[in-house]
Amino acid sequence: MHLNLSPELQGNAAAEEAARIVGKCVHCGFCNASCPTYRLLGDELDGPRGRIYLMKGLLEGVPATAKTQLHLDRCLTCRACESACPSGVDYGRLLDTGRALSSVRSPRSWSGRLVRALLRGTLTRPWLFGALLRIGQTLRPALHPQLREKVPVRTLGPVGPVGFKASPISQAVIPAPPSPAQRRVLLLSGCVQPALSPGIHHATVRVLAALGIEAVTPPTAGCCGAIRQHLDDPVGALDEARRNIDAWWPWIEPSSVDSDANASGAQHALAASGAPVEAIISNASGCGVQLREYGHLLRQDPVYAARAARVAALARDVAQVIAPAAEALVKRLRPGPARLAFQSPCTLQHGQGIRGLVEGLLTRLGAELLPCADSHLCCGSAGTYALLQPELSGELRARKLAALQRGAPQAIVSANIGCITHLGYSAEVPVQHWIEWIDARLMP
Ligand code: SF4
Ligand code: SF4
Repeated sequence: MHLNLSPELQGNAAAEEAARIVGKCVHCGFCNASCPTYRLLGDELDGPRGRIYLMKGLLEGVPATAKTQLHLDRCLTCRACESACPSGVDYGRLLDTGRALSSVRSPRSWSGRLVRALLRGTLTRPWLFGALLRIGQTLRPALHPQLREKVPVRTLGPVGPVGFKASPISQAVIPAPPSPAQRRVLLLSGCVQPALSPGIHHATVRVLAALGIEAVTPPTAGCCGAIRQHLDDPVGALDEARRNIDAWWPWIEPSSVDSDANASGAQHALAASGAPVEAIISNASGCGVQLREYGHLLRQDPVYAARAARVAALARDVAQVIAPAAEALVKRLRPGPARLAFQSPCTLQHGQGIRGLVEGLLTRLGAELLPCADSHLCCGSAGTYALLQPELSGELRARKLAALQRGAPQAIVSANIGCITHLGYSAEVPVQHWIEWIDARLMP
């Protein structure tokens, strides 16, 4: 697709990259069939090809309108179109630039800006989100149904069931590590997950410990930045990334602590205590996508570019660390029947390009995995999409649950907290993270 970049954007690295991406599109339309919003609404402008046309216009200097913003806002950022595209159009990066241009040229209403500011301010602060969630859980019966849907019932404690329904298969036994950990990884603590579903981190730490891997979570690391990135605050997202890099760096490069005059005594002790971490793992696939983007996002930062690239290179989904150890793990698990349906989050299969890994791991560990039609389509959660586009999100959830529950599974397992809470609201069976399913079967 030929594009004449507007003079005001020439020299702008993000706009020039976006122009190169648009240039790869041959407007064949193969992507439309994979697009959940196109399939729901049937409007060319609610499909990837139409959105690329809209963003091409923005890059050429066409004024943004409310209609442009509406069609870009309706995009789930699921990136199913990227997986389908034969020309390698990097739609996700294009959308970041397109949305930024649209919001600058056509500022949102004050109420739209306020909602986004409130979401950014609360969701990215674990202490504030946790306090508000507890209040919401207490008042849940009195809440308006639309708001009640967003507030999961309180879970039974740090190792208890996850999500909206008590799960019979997640009462975990805490195993002692078999020996002092030989390996070490950093675990992203994240923002909403510890409050919504504390059992996921606990299960991750225990399963890794069973394999002799220590998971470290420095207290000053937090939100990965994805929420700000997708809510009109790319500058704030970069600040979150820099904060995480600072928190993780002593663990990645222990020798750096010796030369850092500001390093704490604990950091010096740490640096002396062992090998650098082998990976930075995430057990929320949406956050994992953002970690892999750190190198790109900070590529022009003279201070952080090299460290951000190193962090991105170390980023792994937790499945990538556990799957190679499946043979060792299977000996540690209690046998028993399990019919599971796996919901593969878009951020896992399209964003990180990890397809089939969790499915293969669970099958190797004894689960019977049921087929799920249209498994490449989004469940409608998509970060804050479920809050900002409730009708489309609800319709996508109903379709996804019908596909997942067709084979009457005992439980649905997933790899992302957003999908787990979103599906859990109206699922007929428990919904949990796949690592909790493994954790619940660990023998002491
Ligand atoms: S499949 Fe790729 S090349 Fe074809 S219209 Fe979609 S984005 Fe463009
Ligand atoms: S990211 Fe998802 S919703 Fe957006 S255009 Fe691509 S397939 Fe459609």
